[in-house]
Amino acid sequence: MNPPQVSKFLLTIILCVFFAPFLLADGESAAGRDPKQPVDEAYTAKMKKYTTEPFFTSPLVNYLPASKNVPTPEALLGDVAGAPGILPYAGDVYKYMRMLEKASPRVKVFSIGTTEEGREMIAVAVSSEENLKRLEDNRAKLAKLADPRTLQLNDAEADKIVAQAVPVYYITGTIHSPETGAPTALMELAYRLAVDESPYVKEIRDGIVTLITPVVEVDGRDRMVDIYKWHLAHPKDFYPPLVYWGKYVAHDNNRDAMGVTLKLTENVMNTYVQWNAQVLHDLHESVPYLYDNTIGDGPYNAWIDPILADEWQMIGARNVADMTKFGMPGVFAHGNFDTWSPGYLMFIAALHNGISRLYETFGNGGSDTLERTLEPEEYARTWYKQNPPLPKVMWSQRDNNNYEETGLLVSLHYFNENKRMFLKNFYAKAKRSIEKPKTEGPAAYVLTADEKRPTVQLELLRVLQKQHVEISRLTSVVTVALPAKKEKKPGKADEKNEQKKDEKPEPTTKAFPAGSYVIRMDQPYSRVADALLDHQYWSPEDPQKTPYDDTGWTFGELYGVQVARVTDGKILAAPMERVTELRVPGGVKGEGTVFAIENHAEPALASLRYRLKDADMQAVEETFESSGKKFAPGTILLKGADRAQLDAATRELGLQPVALGSAQNAKAHPLRAARILLLHTWLSTQTEGWWRLALDKLQIPYDYASTQTIAKTPDLREKYDVILFPPVGSGGSLNNIVNGLPTSWGNPLPWQNTPGTPNLVGKNDATDDLRPGLGWDGVAKLQKFVSDGGVLLTVMDTAQFASGVGLTSGVVTSISEKMKIVGSVVGTRLIDGASPIAYGYGEKVAAYCDNGPIFSLNSIAASRRRRRLGPEKGARPTGRGTKDDPDFAVGRLGTEAPEEPENEAWENPAVTDEQRYNNPRVIPPALRARVVLRYADAKDLLISGLVENGGDIAQHPAVVDATFGKGHVVMFSINPVWRGETQGTYSLVLNTVMNYDSLNAGRKDDEK
Ligand SMILES: [Zn+2]
Repeated sequence: MNPPQVSKFLLTIILCVFFAPFLLADGESAAGRDPKQPVDEAYTAKMKKYTTEPFFTSPLVNYLPASKNVPTPEALLGDVAGAPGILPYAGDVYKYMRMLEKASPRVKVFSIGTTEEGREMIAVAVSSEENLKRLEDNRAKLAKLADPRTLQLNDAEADKIVAQAVPVYYITGTIHSPETGAPTALMELAYRLAVDESPYVKEIRDGIVTLITPVVEVDGRDRMVDIYKWHLAHPKDFYPPLVYWGKYVAHDNNRDAMGVTLKLTENVMNTYVQWNAQVLHDLHESVPYLYDNTIGDGPYNAWIDPILADEWQMIGARNVADMTKFGMPGVFAHGNFDTWSPGYLMFIAALHNGISRLYETFGNGGSDTLERTLEPEEYARTWYKQNPPLPKVMWSQRDNNNYEETGLLVSLHYFNENKRMFLKNFYAKAKRSIEKPKTEGPAAYVLTADEKRPTVQLELLRVLQKQHVEISRLTSVVTVALPAKKEKKPGKADEKNEQKKDEKPEPTTKAFPAGSYVIRMDQPYSRVADALLDHQYWSPEDPQKTPYDDTGWTFGELYGVQVARVTDGKILAAPMERVTELRVPGGVKGEGTVFAIENHAEPALASLRYRLKDADMQAVEETFESSGKKFAPGTILLKGADRAQLDAATRELGLQPVALGSAQNAKAHPLRAARILLLHTWLSTQTEGWWRLALDKLQIPYDYASTQTIAKTPDLREKYDVILFPPVGSGGSLNNIVNGLPTSWGNPLPWQNTPGTPNLVGKNDATDDLRPGLGWDGVAKLQKFVSDGGVLLTVMDTAQFASGVGLTSGVVTSISEKMKIVGSVVGTRLIDGASPIAYGYGEKVAAYCDNGPIFSLNSIAASRRRRRLGPEKGARPTGRGTKDDPDFAVGRLGTEAPEEPENEAWENPAVTDEQRYNNPRVIPPALRARVVLRYADAKDLLISGLVENGGDIAQHPAVVDATFGKGHVVMFSINPVWRGETQGTYSLVLNTVMNYDSLNAGRKDDEK
């Protein structure tokens, strides 16, 4: 034997010894390199150097196979993946993926769309050359499994395809921009999958198509790289937090999988569906060292197929087992993530018959190597974390990449080994979705052609369309049976039942007119439609006490449109046709010069107001009749509008102005294209981002400025009519809004475009130091703005701010420690339909609520009014007579006490004569706050989600119009604009805007 052979022989022995502890099932390949394939020694040495502990790597990634023609990530990065100090821009990651594509027939790069700021998104397919040649043929096979109707639901036919098809495993990286490790891990993973000849990796390559979107939030990634580079250039300074990620939202970009309002969601959704992928695996960073939250914790989403729940268990358990066997600490699969909300990006797969997966790995928010000290609960050993993370370690981005790549490789390998089962499951889940009307119901959801908000109905249908749900339309009227109401057991509520006897019997059928939209449940993607349109109930008794996200989202309720859940299978046999193009017919009807548009709180009305900026538009304050038709208050009158222009605009917007026979003289006030300022802080821009997105989609123009800017604006009223101050979100306390971050120490934190940070600003805002807040000068400017006649619209924490700085005398805000309304849909009731804020709304309005705050009114300035908790006082004192009799005093005639004034929880308390006597604090009736909407009674509060101890907020005001000087501060306890899911309450904001100088219309004041 010559020397080289000896070393090879020795190496084989070493490898065998090394792998001996891993017990493998029959036929399974061991993880580890192919000794016949040379290793890129230099690259491997650097990987080893940057790995901070020998157990922070695995036999799968502790070497890099060498290739003669395929470039390693070093060719682009100048160092290895995960090297300290290196964070590539998205464009560089793409450049590398395209280098791979050029060098290897095993890699193909696809462009999958662009972001809001015009950056490209890509998907990289890695598989064997043969598989990539047959992509289209394979796609056609998978499409049949995805839609079993094409196989007449024939299992034997499906089996034939299952035996041949190559499944697709889709991996997405860096949706959360400060979670920085995935792009380099995925560059190296793509290289390994293309080059590695070890049996373990070759099996993956030959068996499946791995599809990779290395950067999901591309705009945010480039900002993050800018920040990181700024940090490298100023190593001794604090560096700015990533205050903007994408154009609109930050972390919430991973809560958009229901509403599909962001480009990144739409692009990943389309890619997932068009590839007929089986898995969507999304990569995140937060907890140490790898939390595979695929199994997560309860409650599980109620609409997923149980087959999926079982797949989660299998994949998650195996993932942990394999990595534990490699000796990698801190890998676990249970934990605090509940799987209730379908808003996460990965859930695209869960509700489209695939498998959703998510990793939280450990990251340093950049690629510095740092000493990290964990919290006790993070390093504690628990039943699901038998090999927990260490209390204190040096942690590098290379460690992160080792964990991420190892996890992905064991997942891909396990998935490939069981791919026939997973493909069969994919088919079975689709088939069960199609059989849903028969096996579990409902048969369909119907959105009636009678809808009085057709433009909002259309928006809801568009959401379903983006979800790839099939939509049909009735071609004739159909009557369906309604489910029989269950008889309530007699008991406590006997009295109520007594009353019920006199009520009209519940209808037993319902007719839907021709043109009604039908969402059939016998289609492959029925589950996503069901999950969005159904109601949610989260029990206050649920063992899960900390819901991870929103608990309710029912789209029909939040859009304020009628959605009927139909269980009668007859609906499916009704004559209908598929609809692919959605539109609402609009345009001018009739002859005349005065046009009326009914107001049903459709946001499109505001779009029209701004579209026809110079048109004379008025809002009618009282009911009037024309040509036998009654028009309600809020109806919009257009006088002398250019007919052609009006026709074109309303056609596009789906609105229907009707010409009136004669000019109307009903009382009306102007409806204005108010000049809007959308105000933001530098604390957080995410929650207001959803507001910007809503206004942009409605094409309503606004200025966008920070609290710092308005503090320096001499006369806000001169420039603006309305200032929208959406919720700040976490950290939005009065103290933080006014004071910002500390400036007495530290260095300025600039958010500006410079040659070193070219991507920060985009079309958003800039500052030379994002630390200062509104300041007391700013508070004074806001105060002057309102007292000069401006309208300040505040929501949740900004309403608390406005109250806290004294802009809302007569409105007190508070919070309840024991109440839990966690992102739920709640009922509200109209109190003052004459307020222009309420134009177009009916008696009941569903709204999004996240724990208030609780508003209470007061008629006496600056005195506290306790919010009402628990039952009212009332029982008479001990004495003579019956419960309802007056007491008496011996020796004199009985006297009747004057009646105590009674107030509802939403009302201004009546002022007693005693209180009024020489009291300068009594607010004159005309200046007291006006309640527009209140929360429903406790028993009617919950519509969807979790409401626990809702009595604390029940009946309290939900939307209040408070006067201040010549202007108004409008306060929302609900959040009317949230994640593109609440279009039913948008008009509360838009009405405020358009009626800003007539908010007192219809106001009726108390006499005293
Ligand atoms: Zn994340």
